[in-house]
Amino acid sequence: MSRVYNFSAGPAVLPEEVLKEAAAEMLDYRGAGMSVMEMSHRSKAFEEIINTAEQDIRDLMRIPDNYRVLFLQGGASQQFAMIPMNLMKNRVADYIVTGQWAKKAAKEAEKYGKVNRIASSEDRTFSYIPDCSDLPVSEDADYVYICENNTIYGTKFKTLPDTKGRTLVADVSSCFLSEPVDVTKYGVIYGGVQKNIGPAGVVIVIIRDDLITEDVLPGTPTMLTYKTHADAKSLYNTPSAYGIYICGKVFKWIKSQGGLPAMKEKNEKKAKALYDYLDQSRLFKGTVEPKDRSLMNVPFVTGDADLDAKFVKEAREAGLENLKGHRTVGGMRASIYNAMPYEGVAALVEFMKKFEEENL
Ligand SMILES: *Cc1c(COP(=O)(O)O)cnc(C)c1O
Repeated sequence: MSRVYNFSAGPAVLPEEVLKEAAAEMLDYRGAGMSVMEMSHRSKAFEEIINTAEQDIRDLMRIPDNYRVLFLQGGASQQFAMIPMNLMKNRVADYIVTGQWAKKAAKEAEKYGKVNRIASSEDRTFSYIPDCSDLPVSEDADYVYICENNTIYGTKFKTLPDTKGRTLVADVSSCFLSEPVDVTKYGVIYGGVQKNIGPAGVVIVIIRDDLITEDVLPGTPTMLTYKTHADAKSLYNTPSAYGIYICGKVFKWIKSQGGLPAMKEKNEKKAKALYDYLDQSRLFKGTVEPKDRSLMNVPFVTGDADLDAKFVKEAREAGLENLKGHRTVGGMRASIYNAMPYEGVAALVEFMKKFEEENL
């Protein structure tokens, strides 16, 4: 067996300890005589798995009691519709468009009401985060929407926008659990887990109690109503049971690492190693405004598409996988999520140095 350093944007690297534990429990989960995949989601054993997972993410993020944690399906993309269906009481929402995911979310919301794009960074290919300290937030906006970490472009909101009292909704798919957050600043925090937490198939929604109501847009399906899942504690129907089990193990792993403050410190150290190298390289350059750089997704280019392709190919042969940039951007992108060890980033930087010497 040999494992590579996997820089995929998602589905992405998971902690090796978690994979080993899951492997050890595959045939017989703690004396149940079956795997978690084969287990009823109504069983005592699974009830304990989901309850423990919820408690652990609450501990990690210090989620207050007036917020619910939902383990849903449909990916982050389903939330693009579910959010307006549940929250757009006035049929007005403000969107800050900092990349493809926010753009898609805004477009979907337009099916349900008026969408104001109150800020955007599309003029410079989403390479920065616009100043959001004094935006023309709509008086009657039901919420202000952001994508907090832009997976494709490698930017991150370092300060949250001033929503002038409106509810903040954030897609945190690619920065979930990467650093401490103040949950009370948000109405809804959600993310697909396949970037920084677990296997594809689970989306976690952290939502303030008062936003969970029966007063949803007409025609909203039962399955797309937050209240359905909040009332049933995420067990209205069969959840992605195995996925939730793995997420639970990752929560325990993060706790064992020292929680979110420790994750932040490790993530900063990894990102710094890569950005410091990029800043002095004569071959490679980062594509993002330095003040808005993501700790999780690091896009870079040589400026020559053929050389980029050569780099990706040779990196792969050296055990550094999935460094090709997003198909809409080109170049390279290294996703260095929680589970990427420092050694992986160091190996990447060493490889880049060698490539630079050989190709400059
Ligand atoms: C990957 C990603 C999505 C889409 O996630 P799906 O689970 O595939 O729907 C949405 N937002 C962000 C920020 C992402 O990184």
